[in-house]
Amino acid sequence: MGIDYIDIGVNLLDEAFKKDLHEVLDRAFNSNIDILINTSSSIEEANQSLELTKKYPSKIYTTAGVHPHNASIASDQLKEELIEVLQNDCIVAIGECGLDYCRNFSPVEKQLSVFKTHLEVAKETGLPLFLHQRDAHEDFINCLNEIFNEPIKGVAHCFTGNTEQMKTYLDMGLYIGITGWICDERRNQELIRAVKQLPLNRVLIETDSPYLIPRSLKKSRRNEPMHLPIVAMKLAEEMNIEASRLVNHARENSIELFGLSG
Ligand SMILES: [Zn+2]
Repeated sequence: MGIDYIDIGVNLLDEAFKKDLHEVLDRAFNSNIDILINTSSSIEEANQSLELTKKYPSKIYTTAGVHPHNASIASDQLKEELIEVLQNDCIVAIGECGLDYCRNFSPVEKQLSVFKTHLEVAKETGLPLFLHQRDAHEDFINCLNEIFNEPIKGVAHCFTGNTEQMKTYLDMGLYIGITGWICDERRNQELIRAVKQLPLNRVLIETDSPYLIPRSLKKSRRNEPMHLPIVAMKLAEEMNIEASRLVNHARENSIELFGLSG
């Protein structure tokens, strides 16, 4: 019996895929990755991403939102813009949105206000959040707590934190997105400890392609969705369960959270 994977985080509109996106997608589909959720990092990108979903119905879905790096270019009408673009059925989550103090490409104040706008829209529409957080754990939690006092529908995408941070997210109702970060022995120790306590009904898997190529694939630089099984295998090993069982749970969780028909 074959296993079908859902990659909940890919960046298909990245420059790295400009030349051969269709081949990349064919390779993914041929590797049993049958559903991909493309990540948008601006409203403009969400619109381009919608075009992509039309070319691959029921195979590609998308998020819509403004990445914290782009917060400084978000318009004053962001809330209205978001609500409008979210009318499309192929948009299954709000994001990626959040806080990134690692590189601070946008000023912190602007990141905070743009992030809160996304949270308000999520609260009003009931759509799940696709959340990004780097070096900003405390402010991130404070923003979520400020807007929500009920369990939050969403995923902490590309989770790279420790057990305590993971438990805080789980308590808030969030799912945890695991990438090829877990394959990187230079920096995966905390994450490995954490996933041993990650409940199966909260796990999601993603490649974050073209980023975060699993370290075992040393020859290639660009990550592709076809490599998702490598992430799944390593994660299953660390969670001490059969890979097929993990993949099936991650699939069910994806369908549940994003309301896919898959
Ligand atoms: Zn991200």
